[in-house]
Amino acid sequence: MNILITGGAGFIGSHLTRTLLANGETVAVLDNLSTGSFENIREFVGHKRFSFAIEELNNELVLDRLASQADAIVHLAAAVGVQLVVERPTETIETNVMGTHTVLKAARRYRCRTLLASTSEVYGKGVRTPFSEEDDLLLGASSRSRWSYAASKLLDEFLGLAAYREYGLPVTITRFFNTVGPGQTGRYGMVVPRFVRQALQGEPLTVYGDGEQSRCFCHVSDTVRALEALLNRPEITAGEIYNIGSGDEITINALAQTVIDRADSASSLRHIPYSEAYAPGFEDMRRRVPNTAKIERAIGWRPTHTLEQILDDVIGYERTQLLGAVRDAHA
Ligand code: UDP
Repeated sequence: MNILITGGAGFIGSHLTRTLLANGETVAVLDNLSTGSFENIREFVGHKRFSFAIEELNNELVLDRLASQADAIVHLAAAVGVQLVVERPTETIETNVMGTHTVLKAARRYRCRTLLASTSEVYGKGVRTPFSEEDDLLLGASSRSRWSYAASKLLDEFLGLAAYREYGLPVTITRFFNTVGPGQTGRYGMVVPRFVRQALQGEPLTVYGDGEQSRCFCHVSDTVRALEALLNRPEITAGEIYNIGSGDEITINALAQTVIDRADSASSLRHIPYSEAYAPGFEDMRRRVPNTAKIERAIGWRPTHTLEQILDDVIGYERTQLLGAVRDAHA
């Protein structure tokens, strides 16, 4: 299969590229390197089944050319990370909504099988956990800019489902729940790489709010396995939405302590009010747990990594990165 991955130089995109190439697929990556990086795809350069274009999503000519050569499109390019969303809301909304619009137009032209990445953020402040795909969605007030991310991804979902219903385009939507693993950057707020770096450098771990909010973390290789299986089963997954995440729930306080233990670190916890960490009036989700029965029924997928395995992987990766930086500084 020829597969176009938008956002392929990002965290999930580069892991997906590696897996698809290893399994014999041909991969083209389109990325503007805004939150992704060339480092993430450097290892694939020169591979005979890999190509990349550093371009904006809204360059319709480039997207058209790439779509014309693709059997399938995995649309991962998006403005992500709570910090980025709060700091640059206009960019978030425009990238997410217009980008998806452009991708779907090209996909329709060439009848590409399409996977659209959405997010567990769309469940918002819903209190009935675990979250199922058919649940009502409860977003906060539009005066709180965090919710613009969920609203923009929700519009993406509607656009994707509309393309399926009106034009028969085989679109599948995936809602990711806190995907983590080696290679994720902490620059845009993601908690695991931030805590691991802080622990390895002996700095206090910055826990926002009271730290009793909880999340479920899913290893990126489990996420990638789900994406590959969904790609291969359009006949049963087109027009559907799937949660992709782990059911292993942990509070952020407990996560911080586990990171400290696994990294053998002497760091402590420092609690920081949300208003200081993000912006005054910031709203967080208290709990976020996926119900993954639907994807398990459809393609037999379930996550396989424990939180401890995930953290050991990230700690190993970050240790190597830090050692590399020290070596460079002395070179
Ligand atoms: N968080 C934290 N310290 C950090 C970064 C994040 O306590 O340095 C918290 C954040 O407020 C949220 C949770 O960790 O409650 C997960 O944050 P992340 O940005 O990774 O993902 P989210 O679930 O918010 O999309």
